[in-house]
Amino acid sequence: MNERSFSEVRMAIEAPFTPEHDLFRRTLRDYVTRELAPHALEWDEAGIFPREVFTGMAAIGALGVNYPEEVGGSGGDFWHAVVLAEELVHSRNSGVNMGLLVQSQIATPILNEIGTEEQKREFLRPALAGEKIAALGISEPDAGSDVARIKTSARRVGDDYVVNGAKMWITNGTRADFITLAVRTGGPGHGGISLLVFPTDVKGFSVSKNLAKVGNLSSDTALLFFEDCKVPARYLLGEENEGFYQVMTNFQGERLIAAIGAVSGMQQLVDESIRYGNERSAFDKPLIKFQTWRHKFVEHLTGIEAARWLTYRACDLFNRREPAVKEISMAKLFATDLMQRVVYDCQQFHGGMGYVVETPVARAFRDVRLLTIGGGTSEIMKEIIAKLVPGF
Ligand SMILES: Cc1cc2nc3c(=O)[nH]c(=O)nc-3n(C[C@H](O)[C@H](O)[C@H](O)COP(=O)(O)OP(=O)(O)OC[C@H]3O[C@@H](n4cnc5c(N)ncnc54)[C@H](O)[C@@H]3O)c2cc1C
Repeated sequence: MNERSFSEVRMAIEAPFTPEHDLFRRTLRDYVTRELAPHALEWDEAGIFPREVFTGMAAIGALGVNYPEEVGGSGGDFWHAVVLAEELVHSRNSGVNMGLLVQSQIATPILNEIGTEEQKREFLRPALAGEKIAALGISEPDAGSDVARIKTSARRVGDDYVVNGAKMWITNGTRADFITLAVRTGGPGHGGISLLVFPTDVKGFSVSKNLAKVGNLSSDTALLFFEDCKVPARYLLGEENEGFYQVMTNFQGERLIAAIGAVSGMQQLVDESIRYGNERSAFDKPLIKFQTWRHKFVEHLTGIEAARWLTYRACDLFNRREPAVKEISMAKLFATDLMQRVVYDCQQFHGGMGYVVETPVARAFRDVRLLTIGGGTSEIMKEIIAKLVPGF
């Protein structure tokens, strides 16, 4: 083992969190359990959560925690975003978490990376303050995994782009104030794609449908139409026709956030199941004393620990801005796949109680399916990894 890889392993076995991260964690845990968790069922039933949740989270510095102070952030690093994704699971509401993470870590990082001062002032700063709602618009009715196939076009006419097309599955889409939008500005394939910051108050934009989903009920997911929408050319994000590369770069943070949330969510469900198994008895002994369950949970705890450190290793590379596509794809693949089995077993362990929506494990059962689909499916993660490993 050379010196560099030795030091990396050392990092990986030391807790990466400083007292500053811990303080943020405590503040966030307190806020999320007090302000969000009590409304979990109510917001799921409503199919939406109040807009004030964005401003409330912004007020405790959560939305901009890992952004520079110049754009209204707190100047933290990616480990602060890790804390954010880990602690949000205490809201007991995956839809809320998704809406907030799209706002803070999925639709907006690219604005910070390559946005102009004007774009940051007009869109990023208000998003981090919770004043403008952000969405990321990449997927289309005919193009999900295959991003290079997107058709929504942006034609340059004078000082404007004229946008036509449709976007599908857009989280926060029914009420977004702006969309970080992937559009076709050039020829077919990945070389003809650009990113635009798209303000939704322009003529010709419409929300066609709020999609009724299996899970993540409190988050709105929309089908959007664009008909001759005029957007100032100064809202182009980065260089024309370089959007595919930017989308792929942006996906890395999104996938890491998904992996982190999965690890934290699994840990929470297994911890709760073990507590439940000590309280609930059958055949004169606590459920947890049955070896079949002890073994199952021990297997899961082992898997979760493996997922955690695989993910933390990818976070460390990402935080240091080192190449991490393989590690991030592996973390997303492994953690989100494992969570499917963990949730299934935790639900089974709760018996009938695991089938009523009042229990978080029942809601986790329907919400968890998104994790191996959204942000790049498990099959796509495998394709990416195969391309990065010699021999395939
Ligand atoms: C609730 C929800 C929220 C979402 N939020 C957003 C959002 O905010 N913004 C946004 O842009 N998108 C969003 N998405 C879209 C999401 O990213 C896509 O659903 C996802 O990328 C998969 O695309 P698809 O649904 O078109 O499936 P398809 O691409 O049609 O895939 C269908 C199946 O084929 C498999 N497949 C495809 N290609 C291959 C291959 N090469 N090898 C093997 N198998 C393959 C897939 O793995 C999958 O199992 C959201 C989706 C959902 C369900």
